Amino acid sequence: VFSSDSSPPPSAPFDHRIVTPKPHQIATFYTINRDEVLGGGRFGQVHKCVENSSGLTLAAKIIKARSQKEKEVVKNEIQVMNQLNHANLIQLYAAFESRHDIILVMEYVDGGELFDRIIDENYNLTELDTVLFIRQICEGLQYMHKMYILHLDLKPENILCVSRATNKIKIIDFGLARRYKPREKLRVNFGTPEFLAPEVINYEFVSFPTDMWSLGVITYMLLSGLSPFLGDDDNETLNNILACQWNFEEEEFLDISEEAKDFITRLLVKSKSWRMSASESLRHPWLSDPSLHYQLHQKVQPIFSNTICVSGVFFQTFQGFS
Ligand code: ADP
Repeated sequence: VFSSDSSPPPSAPFDHRIVTPKPHQIATFYTINRDEVLGGGRFGQVHKCVENSSGLTLAAKIIKARSQKEKEVVKNEIQVMNQLNHANLIQLYAAFESRHDIILVMEYVDGGELFDRIIDENYNLTELDTVLFIRQICEGLQYMHKMYILHLDLKPENILCVSRATNKIKIIDFGLARRYKPREKLRVNFGTPEFLAPEVINYEFVSFPTDMWSLGVITYMLLSGLSPFLGDDDNETLNNILACQWNFEEEEFLDISEEAKDFITRLLVKSKSWRMSASESLRHPWLSDPSLHYQLHQKVQPIFSNTICVSGVFFQTFQGFS
């Protein structure tokens, strides 16, 4: 049986909640596993933790924030997460504020960063895997954009896999996310410039298409393992982005479908207004055409003598291996 499984990932193990930071000691209610660091970010570390009363396993993101201004930035992240109730977006459970930091307690997922799957030689990412990943990122983005919220920091490090076994993902890190305000410009910390949209580099207005550019970069990377604009140094990378200079010339693209290339081509467009939206992306054949997905599936699969299609699911009779 073949099905390009479009079911959503499991929801968080708790109902959506509106969180306000509490002034209590987190240690009264949670046991933070200081040895188990899930990741380090810009502003602190993420640890595995357990809620003492329920036994629930969660992730605690400890963000250093001393000044009132730094605290406001973290409270923005909390406010954004309070508005987002979707299975492809990591859910917030609680928050604690103390003198030197704010701790966000979130839904925990176990499958590691999507980034690790790109670089892992042993994990052979197929085009169909990529379809499944990108479709879910698009669904999360479509919801965010419907709620009038921009992510503005989409990259493979901020996409987490739910488990090693399935292709289910959740988007994390709403640290730069914000409500869309027409005419808002964005100052970003240039960490790695590979994922920045031209309008961000040029300090022009950011909008929903800014996230769609990042989706194009992620798609390119998942399909090829290559970064489309990466130059020998940051300066060259920035120039490549501003010139919108990228191509499919590398041999990694030889086996990639025309639909996938068309999908990327409609996102890596310099002018914001010409990029596909999240809803348009979901309707693009690369993400929506079941017969294309069947072909992609067949490429790496045994030969089947007979195929029956019942409501988008293909049933096959087995003949042998190719
Ligand atoms: P920052 O905003 O500081 O970059 P992130 O929210 O991106 O922090 O988290 C940093 C890393 O911690 C992530 O890349 C991921 O590996 C890990 N991580 C974050 N949130 C979770 C979570 N809910 N479950 C499991 N691991 C997580």
